[in-house]
Amino acid sequence: MSTPFVVAIDGPSGSGKSSTARGVARRLGFGYLDTGAMYRAVTWALLRREVDTGDAAAVAAAVGEVQTVSGTDPDAPTITADGVDVSVEIRGPEVVAHVSPVSAVPEVRTRLVELQRQAIAAAGEGIVVEGRDIGTVVATDAPLKIFLTADTAARAARRAAEEGSGDTAATAASLERRDQIDSTRTTSPLAKADDAVEIDTTDLTLDEVVDEIVTLVWERR
Ligand code: C5P
Repeated sequence: MSTPFVVAIDGPSGSGKSSTARGVARRLGFGYLDTGAMYRAVTWALLRREVDTGDAAAVAAAVGEVQTVSGTDPDAPTITADGVDVSVEIRGPEVVAHVSPVSAVPEVRTRLVELQRQAIAAAGEGIVVEGRDIGTVVATDAPLKIFLTADTAARAARRAAEEGSGDTAATAASLERRDQIDSTRTTSPLAKADDAVEIDTTDLTLDEVVDEIVTLVWERR
């Protein structure tokens, strides 16, 4: 069996990664892996255990007990933590408030990167993987790396619409707080890989972004 074609999509919160990655996977018949959902699921499981997420040593000690499983069908992605379907809970404000400090703990990253590489190895023809460090750490040899950006106002408006919240200013503040932690952490910060193609999605429709990436896949396959 040949190795799966990996499309690595990184970028800050609200840059359109999830909708784009799912759209590309559907168009190409590829799998889809949402690595943010994995960090969120671990965060949910640690909060349930009442672990202090500000205490890196406590997080590191507990993460080994958490079992998380991701389904890679782009039409119905699934995520469980300790056997519980947490697809709804991981989008809630409590997880959002704690996920960035949890993700900054090296032991958490080591564990999840290993699971992500296993999912990639098990993919059939190809897989679209979205996150913050896919092109720089998880799949450094991916034949196509994309870095999505958008200005803060556009990102906040999209996230607020997704979350059904009318408070775009609060959403913008929450996004910027997470971006700040994600970009400045010591272990695998959010960064554009040198060989990534950067796409600014501020003035593009979802279909336009998907088309652009699918064309790049055709060119490189
Ligand atoms: O992409 P999403 O917003 O669901 O990611 C939630 C959080 O998970 C991010 O803010 C970041 O802290 C963390 N994350 C990460 N590395 C990834 C994916 C997500 O650190 N590859």
